[in-house]
Amino acid sequence: MTTTTCKTRFAPSPTGYLHLGNVRTALFNALLARRQGGALLLRIEDTDRERSRPEYVAALLEDLRWLGLDWQEGPEIGGPHPPYAQSERTAIYADYYQRLEAADQAYPCFCTPAELALSRKTQLAAGRPPRYAGTCARLGAAQQQAWRERGVQPTLRFRTPPGQAVQFTDLARGPQQFASDDIGDFIIRRADGGPQFFFANAVDDALMGITHLLRGEDHLSNTPRQLLLLAALDLPAPQYGHLALIVGADSGPLSKREGHFSVRELRAAGYRPEALLNYLARLGHSYEHDHWMTLTELADGFALERLGRAPARYDEAQLLRWQSEAVQRAAPESLWAWLEAAVDGDVPTACREAFIAAVRPNIRFPADAAFWAKRLFGAEWTPSVDSQALIAQTDSVFFSHALAAYAEHGAVYQPLIEDLKRRTGVKGKHLLMPLRAALTGELHGPELARILALMPADRAKQRLAAAIRPGADG
Ligand code: GLU
Repeated sequence: MTTTTCKTRFAPSPTGYLHLGNVRTALFNALLARRQGGALLLRIEDTDRERSRPEYVAALLEDLRWLGLDWQEGPEIGGPHPPYAQSERTAIYADYYQRLEAADQAYPCFCTPAELALSRKTQLAAGRPPRYAGTCARLGAAQQQAWRERGVQPTLRFRTPPGQAVQFTDLARGPQQFASDDIGDFIIRRADGGPQFFFANAVDDALMGITHLLRGEDHLSNTPRQLLLLAALDLPAPQYGHLALIVGADSGPLSKREGHFSVRELRAAGYRPEALLNYLARLGHSYEHDHWMTLTELADGFALERLGRAPARYDEAQLLRWQSEAVQRAAPESLWAWLEAAVDGDVPTACREAFIAAVRPNIRFPADAAFWAKRLFGAEWTPSVDSQALIAQTDSVFFSHALAAYAEHGAVYQPLIEDLKRRTGVKGKHLLMPLRAALTGELHGPELARILALMPADRAKQRLAAAIRPGADG
């Protein structure tokens, strides 16, 4: 297999929803592929039959597409190396097991989990690295047969070549070295016949022509085993890179169990995909500039030398910063689609564009838009405590004048303000704040001129009138 261009992959196990940790892995592989003008392959690693679910596969495809992380080979689109779900590749693995057995590079192991656990414990107690003791390494055909007749289902173990140094240059961490003697013979097929994760993973990377891959640091110890396997099978090895894990505020690992970090939930909460991409691309990778970037720009600036080695700490404040920026930059139609369900019919169709222009600087999530929709168009009148206090402190004459000025000029901002200034003799914030408080029930918010232009005249008059007699129902 000769592949000259860079081909990366994302190989999730569909045992839960995508969370920030594995989406970052997907993103980094996508960025690396784009940067090199290569391709991203998607492979579903569903060999854990009990925990893998079709709905998680569907969800992860949808989540990746929502993020804009398209793959060029894999489920739904196909490619030259199908199938792309490991559960459909059993015959391929069987072939490679057979090759190893035929070459005496793998052997059946009949040890029970209890025996293995005991051996492990004894070695650890003696201060030695736990490795397989080799009990079944030299069983003759008759002994193997005897075990089988007793109904014991063996695992298949790889015969690790002794005395070797397994070396590789990690794309993120530099030169690595492991001793094969510390690894010992390891299981490549489970007793139930299912492939061990790192066997199927390595064989598929080779057969699918993967040249580079980035994955979590938790897989680093699998790499020497995978390199030994690929060498034994005479298959090409990809270049591996291991990313420092993402940790939570308490330095503990983020996991799928932390539901609030699933992409689904972030999406349901109103996070924009571009915000997640801008945030995640900087989680364990640094850019020259800290400004907003498109996916193409994130790819152009992506460099393996810029990967960090220290654990990357999840920081919600940073994510929120990118979210605000994403909202400021989103196209109006896209922003409307995003907030439509939340404003729940409160915004008249003719006002949509003006509403978006007015509230955009003041919102970060659809719920914020819903708040302003209620303030501008809703019948409910629940001013904030601060604004109630300001209205109470303000002479009611001010609001009578405001009502009169409004009656004369309508919602046209400049003449209305000039007139109110003339009538009351107050200006600046002493004029604008009580007016804002009376109209919106808030001391801060969208530009007053835009609010006036949007708010139905009856609603505006009603609120100004209510401020003349605070406490009275508007
Ligand atoms: N299926 C593995 C996982 O989700 C993939 C590991 C790898 O990228 O090699 O952890």
